[in-house]
Amino acid sequence: MAEAAIDMGLIIRNARVRDRKEPVDIAMEGTRIGAIGTNLDIRAATTIDAAGSLVLPGLFNLHFHADKCLLGEIMRPNVSGTLPEAIEITNDFKRNYDPAEVAGRATRALEAGIINGTTFFRLFADVGTIGGLRAARGLLLAREKLADYCRIEVVAFPQEGIIRDPGAAELMEEAIKEGCNIVGGLPWYEYSDEDARRHIDICFDIAKRHDLDIHMLVDDTDDANSRSLEYLALKTMRENFYGRVVASHCGAMAGYNDVYAAKIIDMVATAGITISVNAHINLVCSARMDREPKRRGIARVKELLARGVNVVTSQDDVNDPYYPFGKPDPLECASMISHVAQLTLPKEIEQVIDMITINSAKAARVNDYGLEPGKPADLVVLGAPTIHEALREQPPRSCVIKAGHEVARSTLTRTLLR
Ligand SMILES: [Zn+2]
Repeated sequence: MAEAAIDMGLIIRNARVRDRKEPVDIAMEGTRIGAIGTNLDIRAATTIDAAGSLVLPGLFNLHFHADKCLLGEIMRPNVSGTLPEAIEITNDFKRNYDPAEVAGRATRALEAGIINGTTFFRLFADVGTIGGLRAARGLLLAREKLADYCRIEVVAFPQEGIIRDPGAAELMEEAIKEGCNIVGGLPWYEYSDEDARRHIDICFDIAKRHDLDIHMLVDDTDDANSRSLEYLALKTMRENFYGRVVASHCGAMAGYNDVYAAKIIDMVATAGITISVNAHINLVCSARMDREPKRRGIARVKELLARGVNVVTSQDDVNDPYYPFGKPDPLECASMISHVAQLTLPKEIEQVIDMITINSAKAARVNDYGLEPGKPADLVVLGAPTIHEALREQPPRSCVIKAGHEVARSTLTRTLLR
């Protein structure tokens, strides 16, 4: 006698997953994945036909300045295309930020990211004496608004520095009390190496006081003398913060001599620091003063991977004074790093997909992540059968599931007329 079919809310049929050859069905049980297998005998209220597409667990964007996103619609152009001018243009807006307006812009960009399969964002809120807590309050509002669609962390980020901006450290404390849950940092932006180290010390003091993880923007300059990553790694080890620190950019590393770079990469690996590469922005903002050959302003990705460092890739900016484009789409970030770090072999394109999935989960210390029964039902139907095809075609994501519910759907019709 055949056993009765089990009832579940939602099932995806005819899906491909990374570690199996044959198509599978994925059934959701409440907010979790209930079962994965071939031809599951399950009745579900909703059935989604993946049509042979690859399904991944929800994608990550771990470095996104959502408070500044879409300022491009209202700002004056960045005439020099440099970071300093971008910072100056943004300051004019920040003085007049209204949290509701920030939340409105952020929500629009976040919704685009969700449609592209992002179910986890780490948003950077500028916290400092120019804008006070207005950006943070805006992003906390956006987090509340989108709670059913994605998980959001908000970083208290001192965009004007901490020593350079007296009062910023106190405002970071306030931002954390209001709900920010990651400690930001920007040590390389301080006026001296000594101040950069003090900046890092202050960030660790705040992080320890509130038991929070740290995500800093580090050595985001073409100056090979910018070496705050060295002290950050040392401090991470001394404070026993192994695995709790992310360093974004680190482009100065490209200019380090090979011996020093090897030492730093070894320290980063030992400290368990994740490196976030934000290729979009660095490709357009770095090395503006170079003639030819122009540097790329990107950390030494292949050397980091070879040493076992956790590397992620993220969309830093969406149409703001720093960067005029940005969809934002983790798959586009994966494609971008594949190009800029020359990761094109079959094993390497697996690595770039890891950067927007499991490596990011590790960086954010999300332990229950992946396509397995019992894990949260956050997933994306890519719209392509393989990683290779997904990177090549960048298809619209046919479906995005958050906590067992379909939260976004996309279709694309293209016809060559004859
Ligand atoms: Zn950034």
